[in-house]
Amino acid sequence: MKKQVLLMAAALLAASFTFAEGGKENAAAPSSKPGAKGLVPLSVWSVMAAEIPLTPDTIDAWNMIEQKTNTDISWKFVSTLSEVKDQQFNLMMASGDLPDIIAYYEGSGGHKTIEKLGSEGAFIPLEDLIAKNAPNLKKVILDDPAIRTAVTAPDGHIYYVPMLSALNAARGWFIRADWLEKVGLKAPATTDELYKVLVAFRDGDPNGNGLKDEIPMIARRRGDDWIYNLGALAYAFDADPDWVLRNGKVSFGPAESQYRDFLAYISKLYREKLIDQEILTRKGNPRDELLSLNMTGVLHDWFASTADLNGKVGKTVPGFRLMHFAPPTGTYKTPFTRIQQTKVRADGGWSITVKDKNPVETIKMMDYVYSPEGIILTNFGVEGKTYVLKDGKPVYTEAITKNPAGLGMHESLVTAGAQWKIGMIQSIEYEKQFANAAATAARLEYMDKYIVDEFPLLSFTAGEAEIIKDKYSQIRTLTTEMSARAMVGAIAPADFEKTVQEMKKVGLDDLVKIYQAAYDRKAAKK
Ligand code: CA
Repeated sequence: MKKQVLLMAAALLAASFTFAEGGKENAAAPSSKPGAKGLVPLSVWSVMAAEIPLTPDTIDAWNMIEQKTNTDISWKFVSTLSEVKDQQFNLMMASGDLPDIIAYYEGSGGHKTIEKLGSEGAFIPLEDLIAKNAPNLKKVILDDPAIRTAVTAPDGHIYYVPMLSALNAARGWFIRADWLEKVGLKAPATTDELYKVLVAFRDGDPNGNGLKDEIPMIARRRGDDWIYNLGALAYAFDADPDWVLRNGKVSFGPAESQYRDFLAYISKLYREKLIDQEILTRKGNPRDELLSLNMTGVLHDWFASTADLNGKVGKTVPGFRLMHFAPPTGTYKTPFTRIQQTKVRADGGWSITVKDKNPVETIKMMDYVYSPEGIILTNFGVEGKTYVLKDGKPVYTEAITKNPAGLGMHESLVTAGAQWKIGMIQSIEYEKQFANAAATAARLEYMDKYIVDEFPLLSFTAGEAEIIKDKYSQIRTLTTEMSARAMVGAIAPADFEKTVQEMKKVGLDDLVKIYQAAYDRKAAKK
């Protein structure tokens, strides 16, 4: 039955929705030049933000944006279903019959497609247009090195205005609150308390099946990189699994003495079977699998998808409740993490095609979307309809939270013209009122209290890049292999000094010099 419904939905959506021609009350017919009333006509091809048909009379946010920017926008929406979207997108690009603006979307790395097509000449480079005409975009995109780097194509140009998330918190610590209750302990604040909790999870049968089958803590790898999540424990000892800045001096974390404290700690956890004994080899997704089996209680992982498991796993494991906790402290007494993500979302943004006759007016419209007014409109819609101001902050009305037509919160926002898949800035107030409350609370707490600057993005000369390419991967491999051996007890953490000597033989000191020079160049620019 479910499959049938899905098929019907797919058939319905095979058509794309357009309400360009004459759809707007009193609107002049679209033309390619500034027409009636001096409005600039702009055509947009956009992937839908929700699989629902839209009509011009409900999208208040965009009607307002058109007024404010003297534009007359005609939208063509395409389903997010990849077979529909890809076919229509490829047909359009092959035909050369392009709209003025393309808002492309692909959940995994759509920006690569945009950058490739931009380099091939389909889109115009935006950096000069932005610098001359778009102060809001300039401030956010050009003046922030992390965002600028994230949106710059390999050919050095910027081909899209990105969608930005409000939150930079990416991954953090989670623990089973229901298991803590069973063993009578609180969420751990220190590495000693974490150890005690893990012992209690190992010995206290918190899953209640009478077997000592719990794997107290897991840490998902990324590919072969087993330090990816477990490395978050390094911060408890002020250690770092990679490059780190110490008072303006570049340092390689695994070569620092405190890295051995981190190794000694994970070695103890491993030896006492407190972390997954298969952490180095386990295939699949141990997070979803072991949590669904009610087998594990502590992990470091992505906030949103982990908090989501409360709903999913909660249906089959009675009482299941994951809660976040602060990064534990060890020899270093302040909880912190350097793990974060750029605010550039990898799945939304828009580009100006070479067919656009009015690129200056177009970038000004895109700039307005990034302005304080535009941010409110594209997150909340129009005041009095979809939100009201309370203590100066926008709060969604029941038109959004209890939509009279029965639409979900996201769908009702999209119907009002908010949260579309375009180059916009998602507001933190939107995140607070909309997203999975547990995940948002966790991300806000990490952002406000624990996340410190990450190692800066550096640019290297071609010669430097060549040396890095040759030596860094060798040093990285040495580090992860020897760290793994220290964790499983094949070498003593104290013997890591020998590994540092090997790193130096490969050329660690040269690498540090190169990184330091690149950092000094960057610091001098400021
Ligand atoms: Ca058990």
